Amino acid sequence: MSQLVRVAIGENFPEIQWPACCPECGTTKSLIRNTSRLGKVKSIRPNLQGGLTMKSEVMYLNYWICPQHAAETRWANRLLEKSPVMHLIRFIFYVGVVFAIGLIFGPRRLETFPDLGPLLALPLLGILGVASLIWARIATSLWPIRFDPDQDVIEIQFRQAPYATRFRVMNREATSAQNTEETPWYKRALLWKVIVIVLFFMFMARLMK
Ligand SMILES: [Zn+2]
Repeated sequence: MSQLVRVAIGENFPEIQWPACCPECGTTKSLIRNTSRLGKVKSIRPNLQGGLTMKSEVMYLNYWICPQHAAETRWANRLLEKSPVMHLIRFIFYVGVVFAIGLIFGPRRLETFPDLGPLLALPLLGILGVASLIWARIATSLWPIRFDPDQDVIEIQFRQAPYATRFRVMNREATSAQNTEETPWYKRALLWKVIVIVLFFMFMARLMK
């Protein structure tokens, strides 16, 4: 069973400690370092040059892993990465799958699919892409999922529960419930922003009547 661990980050917490064993098989021999990237887009604003300025936050997790499991985790994490390029690529995959579903359930007969020629590339890419995303979620032994939008907390998914336990023990302070407790829904900043915007539009709608 995979486990999700919330880790507090920031000046008040020591650097994240990694168990000296493979997160997948637990071996302690011939380990190598692997780096996974965790990013988030903080804001996107138009700038004076007419383009867009993007502010983002990036964190690199540098952990021990055995060479056998390093490759698949590296590939899987690259597919799941929260970077602008990967967001775009995943978006293309999803669009491709929507096309594929439209084709399969649409009126066109299967025998005539080859007539579409290069147009078939997008649905095929979508199916392969989404299949690889599903593979990645299963295959990754250590997946930095995201920054918590409301706190200085990151979420990491470990495939193996014993490793997750070792990780928690090594980072007791940073993973303690008291330091990583999720913000209750009514305290989440985004929720209140949405409510204020909705109320504003309702108010405007009344004025316009
Ligand atoms: Zn291993």
